[in-house]
Amino acid sequence: MDYVIIGNGIISLSTAFRLLQRLPDNDSITLIGPSARPGSATLAAAAMLNSFGEIDAYSLQSEPDQYLFELSHRATRMWPEFEGELIQAAAEQLPSACGQCEVTQGGCFGQGTYLINNACADELDDRNFDAIVNALRDFNEPFDWVNPRDIPNYHPAQHQRATRAILIHNEGWINPRIEVEKLDRILLSHPQVTYIDQRVTRLNRSQTRIESVTLNDGQVIDGDKFLLANGASVNALLVQSDLDLNVQPVFYGIGISLEIQSPLHPHKNCIRTPNRGGACGIYSVPYFQGPGSENDHVLIGASNVLRPQPTHHGRLISIEHLMRSAVEEINGHFYNAELLNINVGWRPSTQDTYPILGKTSLDNFYIASGTKRNGFHLSPVLSEILVDLLMDEDIDPRFHQFAPERKVIHDLSREDAVEIIVSSLMSEQYQHNYRPSNIRMNEQVRQTYQDDIERLHDKVGAKDWGIPAELVNMYRYGHAQ
Ligand SMILES: Cc1cc2nc3c(=O)[nH]c(=O)nc-3n(C[C@H](O)[C@H](O)[C@H](O)COP(=O)(O)OP(=O)(O)OC[C@H]3O[C@@H](n4cnc5c(N)ncnc54)[C@H](O)[C@@H]3O)c2cc1C
Repeated sequence: MDYVIIGNGIISLSTAFRLLQRLPDNDSITLIGPSARPGSATLAAAAMLNSFGEIDAYSLQSEPDQYLFELSHRATRMWPEFEGELIQAAAEQLPSACGQCEVTQGGCFGQGTYLINNACADELDDRNFDAIVNALRDFNEPFDWVNPRDIPNYHPAQHQRATRAILIHNEGWINPRIEVEKLDRILLSHPQVTYIDQRVTRLNRSQTRIESVTLNDGQVIDGDKFLLANGASVNALLVQSDLDLNVQPVFYGIGISLEIQSPLHPHKNCIRTPNRGGACGIYSVPYFQGPGSENDHVLIGASNVLRPQPTHHGRLISIEHLMRSAVEEINGHFYNAELLNINVGWRPSTQDTYPILGKTSLDNFYIASGTKRNGFHLSPVLSEILVDLLMDEDIDPRFHQFAPERKVIHDLSREDAVEIIVSSLMSEQYQHNYRPSNIRMNEQVRQTYQDDIERLHDKVGAKDWGIPAELVNMYRYGHAQ
């Protein structure tokens, strides 16, 4: 059996790794993806390994959302062991940055996330913060209240300081570049893996199967089972391959993160706000370089804007906002840090915001995409289930609700959706310095948004369902229907 995996982000790499652990001697894996990885979400990620930190006031209200959270929570528990397996498999192929690593200490993987609640945006932050605390209690997940003044390397501007903070012990982060290098090395050096530095330009269908893929240099690669996991570009490849599958749109959730070097003020822990209207708030994460290094790099994230087509460069407003927020909300000393990299990644973002994962109606064709802003964190658990599927083993039937050809999930009522969108838009405005002259003006602005969003729902025929907040512009401009 030859498994062909298209894409070389964290979803493909972790799945190839898991598959390799269970691969019979005569089977093989062909992994295809350009080594330059343009628009790689994986390389732009922090990568925070958060499940509770991603909860907001409207989370966990539907079955798909609860199940996705269950997977995410399981991923948190799997990470230390998964990391241990990778280190063991890499053996002498380990990247130099991994020397002296003891899995949870002394390396690129760390745990202990400070969640702060400040007044820089609006009251949506407070509600999201409360929702996280309530969920931590409901699930008996360990956390501690901390005095914001005691958070290491936290020096916000006076008027932007947090009044509440907690430490979530098990939520961590990892340097994604070191992780990708480790996986690349394991796969590249394995005799059962062929790693091809190319793009797939076409999936070739013959009746009810994929027979082969064509690469951009014209080569044709045959295989028995095909997994398409090329991130946000999944749609583009499906369309140009004329497969006639009914897969919902996957948009480019364009996100910026900034790598800075802050010599006198390095981070030891992740510090983040709750999610905020339209994006994941502001966060700063230690960006480990290696055992002999000063380890004073910090990753600042992240912006998010959905587009039907990719863009390769960051918007000034996103970069400016991240820099200002990091200096004002996290650490004033960052003003003196050096800006090393502006990462641009394309989060694979589906029309209904849920991932597309599993087998298609073709006999030997699987898709794994749409992980939006949690794909890195989810990779240990998704890769395990994807390998079960590829090997025709039974899986939890709830996973099938994310099947690639499912109908678009509408799990929001129109009323809730309008409320969420208006709250998100107001939060977004406050993050960008909106200051109403009085409370009436604020009510008028809210009402203007509300009327506009109600009209948009009417226009797209959303009578008994609601538009997810981040999809507003995709519906407004006809990219989602
Ligand atoms: C700024 C930012 C911050 C983020 N922060 C976090 C975080 O803190 N925690 C977290 O869990 N997640 C985070 N995410 C989300 C996470 O990065 C994604 O969910 C995850 O990386 C998606 O992985 P992927 O493998 O599906 O896609 P990608 O990482 O985008 O990989 C797809 C790969 O496929 C290749 N490819 C594309 N087309 C083809 C083709 N035709 N043929 C062959 N190869 C192809 C591309 O070159 C690319 O390397 C963040 C994302 C961004 C952008």
